[in-house]
Amino acid sequence: MDISLQQVGYLYAKDSPFEKRALQDVTATIPSGSYTSIIGHTGSGKSTLLLHLNGLLKPSEGIVKVGDTTITAQTKGKQLKNVRHKVGIVFQFPEHQLFEETVEKDIMFGPINFGVPKEIARDRAHELVKLLGLPEEVLQKSPFELSGGQMRRVAIAGVLAFKPSVLVLDEPTAGLDPRGRKEIMELFHRLHEEENLTTILVTHSMEDAARYSDRIVVMHEGTSVMEGTPEEIFSQEEQLHSYRLGIPRSVRFQHRMEKLTGRKLGRLAVTEELLAQELAAVIQGKGERPC
Ligand code: ADP
Repeated sequence: MDISLQQVGYLYAKDSPFEKRALQDVTATIPSGSYTSIIGHTGSGKSTLLLHLNGLLKPSEGIVKVGDTTITAQTKGKQLKNVRHKVGIVFQFPEHQLFEETVEKDIMFGPINFGVPKEIARDRAHELVKLLGLPEEVLQKSPFELSGGQMRRVAIAGVLAFKPSVLVLDEPTAGLDPRGRKEIMELFHRLHEEENLTTILVTHSMEDAARYSDRIVVMHEGTSVMEGTPEEIFSQEEQLHSYRLGIPRSVRFQHRMEKLTGRKLGRLAVTEELLAQELAAVIQGKGERPC
Protein backbone atom coordinates (compact mmCIF):
# COMPACT_ATOMS: atom_id res chain seq x y z
CA MET A 1 0.00 0.00 0.00
CA ASP A 2 1.66 3.23 -1.17
CA ILE A 3 1.60 6.18 1.21
CA SER A 4 2.24 9.79 0.23
CA LEU A 5 2.15 13.15 1.93
CA GLN A 6 1.66 16.27 -0.14
CA GLN A 7 2.47 19.61 1.47
CA VAL A 8 1.14 18.48 4.81
CA GLY A 9 0.87 20.99 7.64
CA TYR A 10 -0.40 20.39 11.15
CA LEU A 11 -1.33 22.74 13.99
CA TYR A 12 -1.99 21.46 17.51
CA ALA A 13 -4.87 23.26 19.27
CA LYS A 14 -5.72 25.10 16.04
CA ASP A 15 -7.50 28.45 16.45
CA SER A 16 -6.89 28.52 20.20
CA PRO A 17 -4.44 30.67 22.18
CA PHE A 18 -2.30 27.51 22.52
CA GLU A 19 -2.01 26.93 18.76
CA LYS A 20 1.31 25.29 17.91
CA ARG A 21 2.60 24.44 14.46
CA ALA A 22 4.18 20.98 14.40
CA LEU A 23 4.34 20.28 10.63
CA GLN A 24 4.77 22.52 7.62
CA ASP A 25 5.00 21.60 3.96
CA VAL A 26 5.86 17.94 4.51
CA THR A 27 6.10 16.06 1.22
CA ALA A 28 7.25 12.44 1.23
CA THR A 29 6.58 9.14 -0.51
CA ILE A 30 6.59 5.74 1.14
CA PRO A 31 6.32 3.05 -1.55
CA SER A 32 4.45 -0.17 -0.87
CA GLY A 33 6.79 -2.87 0.44
CA SER A 34 9.55 -0.43 1.40
CA TYR A 35 11.27 -0.06 4.76
CA THR A 36 11.46 3.65 5.42
CA SER A 37 13.20 5.28 8.38
CA ILE A 38 12.23 8.72 9.58
CA ILE A 39 15.06 10.51 11.34
CA GLY A 40 15.25 13.97 12.86
CA HIS A 41 16.17 15.78 16.05
CA THR A 42 13.74 15.80 19.01
CA GLY A 43 10.81 18.12 18.25
CA SER A 44 11.28 17.89 14.46
CA GLY A 45 7.78 16.47 14.00
CA LYS A 46 8.39 12.74 13.60
CA SER A 47 5.68 11.55 16.04
CA THR A 48 3.14 14.04 14.69
CA LEU A 49 3.89 12.74 11.20
CA LEU A 50 3.35 9.12 12.28
CA LEU A 51 -0.06 9.92 13.73
CA HIS A 52 -1.14 11.09 10.27
CA LEU A 53 -0.32 7.73 8.71
CA ASN A 54 -3.28 5.90 10.22
CA GLY A 55 -5.66 8.80 10.54
CA LEU A 56 -5.21 9.40 14.28
CA LEU A 57 -4.52 13.00 13.19
CA LYS A 58 -5.88 14.69 10.08
CA PRO A 59 -3.70 17.24 8.32
CA SER A 60 -4.59 20.91 8.91
CA GLU A 61 -3.26 21.54 5.41
CA GLY A 62 -2.37 19.33 2.46
CA ILE A 63 -3.15 15.71 1.64
CA VAL A 64 -2.20 12.33 3.10
CA LYS A 65 -2.84 9.33 0.83
CA VAL A 66 -2.85 5.84 2.30
CA GLY A 67 -3.56 3.33 -0.44
CA ASP A 68 -6.90 4.38 -1.94
CA THR A 69 -7.86 6.61 0.99
CA THR A 70 -7.26 10.34 0.74
CA ILE A 71 -7.15 12.18 4.07
CA THR A 72 -7.56 15.94 4.28
CA ALA A 73 -8.77 18.33 6.99
CA GLN A 74 -12.34 17.67 5.79
CA THR A 75 -12.24 13.84 5.95
CA LYS A 76 -14.84 12.40 8.33
CA GLY A 77 -13.87 9.95 11.08
CA LYS A 78 -15.90 7.08 9.58
CA GLN A 79 -13.86 7.18 6.38
CA LEU A 80 -10.71 6.50 8.40
CA LYS A 81 -11.81 3.17 9.85
CA ASN A 82 -10.28 1.20 6.99
CA VAL A 83 -6.96 3.03 7.31
CA ARG A 84 -6.81 2.27 11.06
CA HIS A 85 -7.08 -1.46 10.23
CA LYS A 86 -4.48 -1.39 7.52
CA VAL A 87 -1.85 0.68 9.33
CA GLY A 88 -0.70 -0.67 12.69
CA ILE A 89 1.27 1.61 15.00
CA VAL A 90 3.67 0.30 17.65
CA PHE A 91 4.04 3.26 20.00
CA GLN A 92 6.96 3.82 22.35
CA PHE A 93 6.75 1.48 25.35
CA PRO A 94 3.73 -0.38 23.88
CA GLU A 95 3.70 -2.74 26.89
CA HIS A 96 2.20 0.09 28.95
CA GLN A 97 -1.04 -0.59 27.07
CA LEU A 98 -1.29 -4.26 28.10
CA PHE A 99 -4.17 -4.77 30.50
CA GLU A 100 -5.89 -8.16 30.15
CA GLU A 101 -5.58 -11.06 32.60
CA THR A 102 -3.78 -13.30 30.12
CA VAL A 103 -1.54 -12.81 27.11
CA GLU A 104 -4.02 -14.71 24.95
CA LYS A 105 -6.88 -12.38 25.91
CA ASP A 106 -4.73 -9.33 25.36
CA ILE A 107 -3.80 -10.32 21.82
CA MET A 108 -7.41 -11.32 21.05
CA PHE A 109 -8.91 -8.10 22.41
CA GLY A 110 -8.44 -5.86 19.35
CA PRO A 111 -9.68 -8.29 16.67
CA ILE A 112 -12.73 -9.30 18.77
CA ASN A 113 -13.58 -5.63 19.20
CA PHE A 114 -13.51 -5.30 15.44
CA GLY A 115 -15.91 -8.21 14.98
CA VAL A 116 -13.50 -11.11 14.33
CA PRO A 117 -15.03 -14.38 15.66
CA LYS A 118 -13.47 -15.58 18.94
CA GLU A 119 -12.06 -18.83 17.55
CA ILE A 120 -10.31 -17.07 14.68
CA ALA A 121 -8.92 -14.44 17.05
CA ARG A 122 -7.63 -17.22 19.35
CA ASP A 123 -5.93 -19.07 16.47
CA ARG A 124 -4.35 -15.81 15.40
CA ALA A 125 -3.03 -15.17 18.94
CA HIS A 126 -1.42 -18.64 18.96
CA GLU A 127 0.19 -18.09 15.54
CA LEU A 128 1.50 -14.68 16.55
CA VAL A 129 3.07 -15.90 19.77
CA LYS A 130 4.97 -18.45 17.71
CA LEU A 131 5.89 -15.91 15.02
CA LEU A 132 7.31 -13.57 17.67
CA GLY A 133 9.46 -16.32 19.16
CA LEU A 134 7.62 -16.63 22.49
CA PRO A 135 6.97 -20.02 24.16
CA GLU A 136 3.35 -21.20 23.89
CA GLU A 137 3.03 -21.29 27.72
CA VAL A 138 3.00 -17.49 27.85
CA LEU A 139 -0.51 -17.46 26.37
CA GLN A 140 -2.13 -18.38 29.69
CA LYS A 141 0.17 -16.19 31.79
CA SER A 142 -0.52 -12.67 32.92
CA PRO A 143 1.38 -10.22 30.67
CA PHE A 144 2.73 -8.66 33.85
CA GLU A 145 4.60 -11.84 34.84
CA LEU A 146 6.79 -11.60 31.73
CA SER A 147 10.19 -10.00 31.20
CA GLY A 148 10.36 -6.52 29.63
CA GLY A 149 11.39 -7.94 26.24
CA GLN A 150 8.59 -10.54 26.31
CA MET A 151 5.99 -7.93 27.28
CA ARG A 152 7.04 -5.82 24.34
CA ARG A 153 6.64 -8.81 21.99
CA VAL A 154 3.14 -9.44 23.34
CA ALA A 155 2.24 -5.79 22.74
CA ILE A 156 3.61 -6.04 19.20
CA ALA A 157 1.52 -9.20 18.67
CA GLY A 158 -1.53 -7.13 19.70
CA VAL A 159 -0.83 -4.73 16.83
CA LEU A 160 -0.10 -7.54 14.34
CA ALA A 161 -3.38 -9.23 15.32
CA PHE A 162 -5.16 -6.66 13.13
CA LYS A 163 -3.24 -8.05 10.13
CA PRO A 164 -1.96 -4.65 9.06
CA SER A 165 -0.27 -4.24 5.69
CA VAL A 166 1.73 -1.28 7.00
CA LEU A 167 3.59 -1.32 10.31
CA VAL A 168 4.61 1.99 11.86
CA LEU A 169 7.23 1.82 14.62
CA ASP A 170 7.92 4.76 16.93
CA GLU A 171 11.28 4.10 18.60
CA PRO A 172 10.28 0.47 19.19
CA THR A 173 13.45 -0.45 21.10
CA ALA A 174 13.43 2.42 23.61
CA GLY A 175 14.38 1.23 27.08
CA LEU A 176 15.64 -2.23 26.01
CA ASP A 177 19.21 -3.47 26.56
CA PRO A 178 21.48 -3.83 23.49
CA ARG A 179 20.62 -7.52 23.05
CA GLY A 180 16.88 -6.90 23.37
CA ARG A 181 17.17 -4.01 20.91
CA LYS A 182 18.90 -6.15 18.32
CA GLU A 183 16.38 -8.99 18.75
CA ILE A 184 13.40 -6.66 18.27
CA MET A 185 14.96 -4.94 15.25
CA GLU A 186 15.77 -8.31 13.66
CA LEU A 187 12.21 -9.41 14.35
CA PHE A 188 10.77 -6.40 12.49
CA HIS A 189 13.20 -7.00 9.66
CA ARG A 190 12.00 -10.61 9.40
CA LEU A 191 8.33 -9.50 9.47
CA HIS A 192 9.07 -6.95 6.76
CA GLU A 193 10.62 -9.63 4.54
CA GLU A 194 8.41 -12.62 5.30
CA GLU A 195 5.03 -10.93 5.70
CA ASN A 196 5.80 -8.30 3.05
CA LEU A 197 4.94 -5.53 5.52
CA THR A 198 5.57 -1.96 4.46
CA THR A 199 7.58 -0.74 7.44
CA ILE A 200 8.07 2.79 8.73
CA LEU A 201 10.52 3.29 11.56
CA VAL A 202 11.17 6.39 13.64
CA THR A 203 14.61 6.04 15.14
CA HIS A 204 17.41 8.00 16.76
CA SER A 205 19.87 5.33 15.69
CA MET A 206 21.65 6.15 12.44
CA GLU A 207 23.00 2.58 12.52
CA ASP A 208 19.48 1.10 12.53
CA ALA A 209 18.31 3.50 9.82
CA ALA A 210 21.27 2.48 7.64
CA ARG A 211 21.07 -1.24 8.36
CA TYR A 212 17.37 -1.92 8.00
CA SER A 213 15.83 0.66 5.73
CA ASP A 214 15.94 1.13 1.98
CA ARG A 215 14.71 4.74 2.23
CA ILE A 216 15.22 7.54 4.71
CA VAL A 217 13.17 10.70 5.25
CA VAL A 218 14.86 13.47 7.26
CA MET A 219 12.69 15.84 9.29
CA HIS A 220 13.86 19.24 10.55
CA GLU A 221 11.74 21.81 12.38
CA GLY A 222 8.49 20.30 11.16
CA THR A 223 9.50 19.98 7.50
CA SER A 224 10.77 17.05 5.41
CA VAL A 225 14.18 18.21 4.25
CA MET A 226 15.83 15.14 2.68
CA GLU A 227 14.64 11.88 1.16
CA GLY A 228 16.71 9.09 -0.36
CA THR A 229 18.54 5.80 0.09
CA PRO A 230 20.79 5.41 3.17
CA GLU A 231 23.82 5.85 0.90
CA GLU A 232 22.44 9.11 -0.57
CA ILE A 233 21.48 10.49 2.84
CA PHE A 234 24.65 9.57 4.74
CA SER A 235 26.91 10.91 1.99
CA GLN A 236 25.70 14.41 2.96
CA GLU A 237 27.38 14.69 6.33
CA GLU A 238 27.50 18.49 6.49
CA GLN A 239 23.84 18.90 5.66
CA LEU A 240 22.92 16.29 8.28
CA HIS A 241 25.12 18.10 10.76
CA SER A 242 23.16 21.33 10.12
CA TYR A 243 20.03 19.37 11.15
CA ARG A 244 21.89 18.19 14.29
CA LEU A 245 22.11 14.63 13.01
CA GLY A 246 25.13 12.34 12.75
CA ILE A 247 26.25 9.54 10.46
CA PRO A 248 26.68 5.81 11.20
CA ARG A 249 29.87 4.75 13.03
CA SER A 250 31.09 2.78 10.01
CA VAL A 251 30.95 5.90 7.79
CA ARG A 252 32.83 7.93 10.43
CA PHE A 253 35.49 5.23 10.52
CA GLN A 254 35.68 5.18 6.71
CA HIS A 255 36.16 8.96 6.55
CA ARG A 256 38.94 8.87 9.15
CA MET A 257 40.66 6.01 7.38
CA GLU A 258 40.40 7.71 3.98
CA LYS A 259 41.91 10.89 5.44
CA LEU A 260 44.80 8.99 6.99
CA THR A 261 45.63 6.86 3.96
CA GLY A 262 44.70 9.24 1.14
CA ARG A 263 42.79 6.37 -0.52
CA LYS A 264 39.03 6.12 -1.03
CA LEU A 265 36.90 2.98 -0.67
CA GLY A 266 34.72 1.97 -3.62
CA ARG A 267 31.44 2.95 -1.92
CA LEU A 268 30.03 4.48 1.22
CA ALA A 269 30.07 1.83 3.95
CA VAL A 270 26.80 2.64 5.72
CA THR A 271 26.93 -0.57 7.77
CA GLU A 272 29.74 -2.47 9.46
CA GLU A 273 29.21 -5.39 7.08
CA LEU A 274 29.68 -3.14 4.06
CA LEU A 275 32.78 -1.65 5.64
CA ALA A 276 34.20 -5.15 6.16
CA GLN A 277 33.44 -6.03 2.52
CA GLU A 278 35.10 -2.86 1.24
CA LEU A 279 38.17 -3.43 3.41
CA ALA A 280 38.38 -7.04 2.22
CA ALA A 281 38.31 -5.74 -1.38
CA VAL A 282 41.21 -3.41 -0.55
CA ILE A 283 43.22 -6.27 0.97
CA GLN A 284 42.60 -8.27 -2.19
CA GLY A 285 43.81 -5.31 -4.25
CA LYS A 286 40.36 -4.36 -5.60
CA GLY A 287 37.84 -1.58 -5.06
CA GLU A 288 40.04 1.26 -3.82
CA ARG A 289 40.96 4.50 -5.57
CA PRO A 290 43.09 7.57 -4.78
CA CYS A 291 41.27 10.46 -3.06
P1 ADP B 1 9.43 14.49 17.50
O1 ADP B 1 8.62 13.24 17.48
O2 ADP B 1 10.34 14.63 16.31
O3 ADP B 1 10.19 14.68 18.78
P2 ADP B 1 6.87 15.86 17.78
O4 ADP B 1 6.03 15.48 16.62
O5 ADP B 1 6.62 15.16 19.08
O6 ADP B 1 8.42 15.74 17.38
O7 ADP B 1 6.73 17.41 18.05
C1 ADP B 1 6.76 18.41 17.03
C2 ADP B 1 6.41 19.74 17.65
O8 ADP B 1 5.04 19.74 18.09
C3 ADP B 1 7.25 20.09 18.87
O9 ADP B 1 7.51 21.47 18.87
C4 ADP B 1 6.35 19.71 20.03
O10 ADP B 1 6.62 20.51 21.16
C5 ADP B 1 4.96 20.01 19.46
N1 ADP B 1 3.92 19.13 20.04
C6 ADP B 1 3.92 17.77 20.05
N2 ADP B 1 2.80 17.28 20.63
C7 ADP B 1 2.07 18.38 20.98
C8 ADP B 1 0.78 18.55 21.62
N3 ADP B 1 0.03 17.51 21.99
N4 ADP B 1 0.35 19.82 21.81
C9 ADP B 1 1.08 20.87 21.42
N5 ADP B 1 2.29 20.80 20.81
C10 ADP B 1 2.77 19.55 20.60
